[in-house]
Amino acid sequence: AQPNPETGAAVKAADRAHVFHSWSAQELIDPLAVAGAKGSYFWDYEGRRYLDFTSGLVFTNIGHQHPKVVAAIQEQAGRMATFAPAFAVEARSEAARLIAERTPGDLDKVFFTNGGADAVEHAVRMARLHTGRPKVLSAYRSYHGGTQQTINLTGDPRRWASDSGTAGVVHFWAPFLYRSRFYAQTQEQECARALEHLETTIAFEGPATIAAIVLETVPGTAGVMPPPPGYLAGVRELCDKHGIVFVLDEVMAGFGRTGTWFAADLYDVVPDLMTFAKGVNSGYVPLGGVAISGAIAETFARRPYPGGLTYSGHPLACAAAVATINVMAEEGIVENAARLGESVVGPALRGLAERHPSVGEVRGVGMFWALELVRNRETREPLIPYDATGEAAAPMAAFAAAAKAEGLWPFVNMNRTHVVPPCTVSEAELKEGLAALDSALSVADGFTDR
Ligand code: PLP
Repeated sequence: AQPNPETGAAVKAADRAHVFHSWSAQELIDPLAVAGAKGSYFWDYEGRRYLDFTSGLVFTNIGHQHPKVVAAIQEQAGRMATFAPAFAVEARSEAARLIAERTPGDLDKVFFTNGGADAVEHAVRMARLHTGRPKVLSAYRSYHGGTQQTINLTGDPRRWASDSGTAGVVHFWAPFLYRSRFYAQTQEQECARALEHLETTIAFEGPATIAAIVLETVPGTAGVMPPPPGYLAGVRELCDKHGIVFVLDEVMAGFGRTGTWFAADLYDVVPDLMTFAKGVNSGYVPLGGVAISGAIAETFARRPYPGGLTYSGHPLACAAAVATINVMAEEGIVENAARLGESVVGPALRGLAERHPSVGEVRGVGMFWALELVRNRETREPLIPYDATGEAAAPMAAFAAAAKAEGLWPFVNMNRTHVVPPCTVSEAELKEGLAALDSALSVADGFTDR
């Protein structure tokens, strides 16, 4: 791409004058003006190119500008750019069919939304109406969206400013051995004790008051924490025992991210409702949804479902989903994530952990990995405090700046960096990014008390 600093400056100036950005103190941010993107890379107007280890907000699973998906959107725009949700529309029918074909168990009906948060909103509404119960259980260390109900469900500091006492949400601790709430030494202990804790929470809350348990299959933004074997099966059992709807949120983990179509496939677990967004069409056009079990669909077979959206199953978004799913199948993109995750990313990150005292733990699967950065490996004190901002967050900012200087755009959340490139990434690109990560970690090492 030709550098074009004047256009870049104009883009930046209009952004700074008029765009109000998510989750930010507006005057304390400095958004990069991005000129273009292709595959695993994007570039700015100065001609600097970055390898994208973030997939945006972990959604461009097929990389940027996949020609077949761009063409499908163009073709759909030429034929039928939009249509109201009450009609049967080819792109919507086909997207639902392709999704239902891949979702586990009998999750055969799809309600389309505009993104992830509204998918979770509707899953919770369906669960409450299906059970006639008010409360929902969700985990600390989770993210479920930025709307009122979903921010209440969320278990990270973004909830605090918007928490309402009327949400009907109760939080519990899901398993996470590295920072165990259960004094566990092994995954088996962590799993058993986390299930015992959930069972006690259900008993003390009153099983007959609980509509749903909402969990990310593999919690993403909160730290990529694959649950120990048996945990999700244990939650499934508790839900069955008490008539609670089991909702798995696969907004981030779904559509190839874990090296399977859905993370639920890794654990052989079938929820009653499963939410998706992001990877369903790599975010080329906003789309999310809820996949619905036979029993819950039956609740609304002769009784109207009281919910909807003007753009439910938007033809452009659905055409992008059809093309994305077909491309993922034809090009073996899910298999690529599984294979390179196991053969390249996992071993390389474990190698970095051996050399860098700032790396406390490496965990992940497929193209879904996290490095937990610490001041001290023995005490596991995080490199920056929980919810640190400004000066207190400086070590992570220095790490990110070092990565960018090496041409790598890193994903940073609190004291972690996540390695979440597109699932289409090549071995050579991974090696290039991992080398940049290696050198950026030397900067993080400087903040440890080794
Ligand atoms: N659920 C999970 C697991 C997510 O990771 C996210 C977004 O990161 C959401 C829900 C919210 O999705 P959206 O931002 O599309 O509303």
